[in-house]
Amino acid sequence: MSYFSDLGLAEPILHALASKGYTDPTPIQRQSIPALLEGRDLLGIAQTGTGKTAAFALPSLHRLAADMKPRKPASCRMLVLSPTRELAAQIAENIAAYAKNLRLTVDCVFGGVPVGKQARRLVPGCDILVATPGRLLDLIDQRALTLSRVEIFVLDEADQMMDLGFIHALKRVANLLPKERQSLFFSATMPKAIADLGKQFINNPVRVEVTPQASTAERVEQFVTFVNQAEKQALLTLRLRALLADGKLDRALVFTRTKHGADRVVRHLSAASISARAIHGNKSQAQRTAALDAFRQGSCPILVATDIAARGIDVTGVSHVFNFELPNVAEQYVHRIGRTARAGADGEAISFCAPDEKPYLKDIEKLTGIKLMPLPLPEGFMAEAAKLPAVSRKPEEAERDARRDDRDARGRGGNRGGGDRGRGGQGRADGANSPRRDDRTPGGRAQGRDGRPRDANPRAANERGPVGNPVRADRGEAPAGEKPRTFRPNRGGGGGVGQHRNKVRRAV
Ligand code: AMP
Repeated sequence: MSYFSDLGLAEPILHALASKGYTDPTPIQRQSIPALLEGRDLLGIAQTGTGKTAAFALPSLHRLAADMKPRKPASCRMLVLSPTRELAAQIAENIAAYAKNLRLTVDCVFGGVPVGKQARRLVPGCDILVATPGRLLDLIDQRALTLSRVEIFVLDEADQMMDLGFIHALKRVANLLPKERQSLFFSATMPKAIADLGKQFINNPVRVEVTPQASTAERVEQFVTFVNQAEKQALLTLRLRALLADGKLDRALVFTRTKHGADRVVRHLSAASISARAIHGNKSQAQRTAALDAFRQGSCPILVATDIAARGIDVTGVSHVFNFELPNVAEQYVHRIGRTARAGADGEAISFCAPDEKPYLKDIEKLTGIKLMPLPLPEGFMAEAAKLPAVSRKPEEAERDARRDDRDARGRGGNRGGGDRGRGGQGRADGANSPRRDDRTPGGRAQGRDGRPRDANPRAANERGPVGNPVRADRGEAPAGEKPRTFRPNRGGGGGVGQHRNKVRRAV
């Protein structure tokens, strides 16, 4: 079976697919659609970029359209839960495109925007609702929505949901859903905690796994440059400048650890005349949307993002992913580099690894089974770096940045806070405003999914410095009483990214 037309989907759906130019199902679509058309539950292990949205949307639309029912007030027939606003909006957009020849309505609700308008839209009910968990429960609490008529329930990105502390919200949702329903549960990774969560939703599911657990996108070439934190900005600027000059960069996503770090990277790139925008939880929804649109349309080819904000990004033509800082949760690396090499394209992922990030690199290589190819610093790096324009800032601004970094580093547990976390839209992406309720130890200390207290995060501790002063990463200034970190190039010599093509090797 290699065509959509072989899968038994209704004609209007096939037409919608044809108008999008899709003829062949992706592996996850081929494996899932027949079972889903039969009404089976499904456990899908798949990253974004594999075509999983269509895998669950197409058979669901087929089933809903085959059994048309009048819409009931404040209810929906299919509910899709997604961890972030961007991802929710994207899923709704995709479903609406697949449903364009059907008489089914699609709506999307998420936090960060006024709830009243969404509640009013739900009054007549809709067929398919895509929602983030916090806002969904708000609407339910306001009696603007009931889940009693849900026939198909999809939980997407379950691992991300757990990371964001949505576990209690999900348990509540599980209790509100009718027993009689079809359930689909997707996660990029399936550690035991996620599998246990899945058991609450799915019943005797078909299991579909499109890539081995935690495997990294196969077509992504992965490099690592060992560099001091203080020199990362210059390295990024020079790498981007060279790639843009050579016409090798279509779009690049740069991942930073903190929101303020993302803003700082954008400031430095702008000073070097490289057009870049930031997307993170301190930006308004309008700013996030504008940045994403500019990135999609190509008017701004570089997007600097924190993990959460980038999770939902589905932009074709992302040629490069830069890990300005390595994530301290190895799975996050898989998600990050999955942003490139989408829809059959090749991509490059380049990680900058400071000395104190080496344990994270080890974790990533262990999880993925891939040894990242060392990429030396560019030739004449020091001299070129010295020529880069300084970003003018008043001393008090520099001081404020340093304080924010300190705060961010303290609140960080793998940079995984955020999404639409809050009830009533209070939640802020990237865990800006409060530690998550669900991942705190009984003693009240925040801890990561690995169970280690966040304070044990060596990088966070490092950046605070021995007396709590942050190291000024962008200028290499050390806290009082600490020797400034000096920079020693690892190795000289060319080493352009292109020269290392096809050299990523499997770890033994
Ligand atoms: P997803 O994993 O759902 O985020 O999908 C990744 C990208 O692949 C999206 O841009 C989809 O529109 C696209 N896509 C999904 N199914 C197909 C297909 N069968 N053929 C080509 N592109 C697809």
